[in-house]
Amino acid sequence: MLKNIILLLGITLILSCEGTKEENIGLTTITKWQEDKKSAISITYDDGIINQFTVAKPIMDKYQIPGTFYVITGKIAGSKKGKFIGRPKAEIIQETKLIKTNKENFFERASLIAFTGTTEAIDYHSRVGSLYEAGKIQKAYQLLDEGYLKIRRGEIRNLDKVIHHDNVVDTTTWDDLKVYAQEGHEIASHTVTHPRLAVLDEANLLYELEQSKKDVEQYLGKQYTFSAECPYGTENERVMEYAHKLYPSLRNRMPEPYLEEINRSSKKSPETSEKEYVQWQRGPLTNIGLEEMKDWIDRCAAQDNIWLVLVFHGINGIGWEPKTDKELEAYFKYIHDRRDQLWVATFADVTKYIRARKSTKIESVDHGKSIQINISSTLDPKVYDVPITLKTYIPKNWKRISINENQIISTVATDTIGNYITYSILPGNKEILLREGI
Ligand SMILES: [Zn+2]
Repeated sequence: MLKNIILLLGITLILSCEGTKEENIGLTTITKWQEDKKSAISITYDDGIINQFTVAKPIMDKYQIPGTFYVITGKIAGSKKGKFIGRPKAEIIQETKLIKTNKENFFERASLIAFTGTTEAIDYHSRVGSLYEAGKIQKAYQLLDEGYLKIRRGEIRNLDKVIHHDNVVDTTTWDDLKVYAQEGHEIASHTVTHPRLAVLDEANLLYELEQSKKDVEQYLGKQYTFSAECPYGTENERVMEYAHKLYPSLRNRMPEPYLEEINRSSKKSPETSEKEYVQWQRGPLTNIGLEEMKDWIDRCAAQDNIWLVLVFHGINGIGWEPKTDKELEAYFKYIHDRRDQLWVATFADVTKYIRARKSTKIESVDHGKSIQINISSTLDPKVYDVPITLKTYIPKNWKRISINENQIISTVATDTIGNYITYSILPGNKEILLREGI
């Protein structure tokens, strides 16, 4: 009789009375995001511009939001500087008079022009790279010939100087960056000089990727060489092949069968994706209003599969497409106020979480008075050091649950399968024992 009445009252009531079905006791999964949040957000900055550290970072610190800063290592005092690797400069420049740019000499010339010492020459390098990546190969060759003609005529002076991208007054030191890293921010490589990597020859391409990695490792430590960003958001296949061998994670591209990547220029809605995870990159440029930026957050919080990756550059008039401190203050507060739903973490940490979740195997045994959970993973626990959150279904009468005798969980939640608890552990191979606590 009582059971019939309960049935009439609907499914929720039945569950709250019956608890977890016996076959589901011990069932354990890793939640999609850390602490069972709805979605993830990473806030990233490119180019190591001074105001990112002196204006944006203090606002983030106030709201305890960690950021990822991709820095151009060659402009930080103490690092190895940018340089051209190859034949003597004069020889190559002289040759441009006799032989037009072609498939054979293109990469060498496009590499060298970035190191001829003027901002105009850097601009030629950058525009040549842009044409090349857009598939306009002949136009890229012609533009390079035009640049070298100017150098030969002395219209662009050939100096022995290294010019860095957006290198306005910047006094950030490795000591400063070390402090920021210790505060919980991620500081990572954005190459030595910020070139168009797609038009560099192998030696110069490798130097940009390897040397910046070495400097980050020397001044900050190996853990900051996990992720990197190749300049101009390049997705060039040749560059990605080299870069993926050196860095476990790139903001440029992260090919995984379970992850869809929507880059900054794409208009695709993340809601239309059927993948388990969607990395949705957005660039809050100067003319993008706060309402649109807030809408990204709301859309992220409304789904369970979106990882919103924001890409900031300039702040308060310094750097490309700057935003103001007032906008950042309002925006970061908006994110902070929604933290019960959103996991805000560095680019490296979100990558590590997703990969750990996808490559960890879990088996559990219900012993009646205890639940034993065996966890195994093929990933290196020294690298994959971000806690993963487990969700385990427990018997209905368990109210306080001890985990390995050293942690007590007393918040029991209920869903359509039954009663469960969530708790975070470090990934790696281990055994966990849950008991009803005292
Ligand atoms: Zn950049």
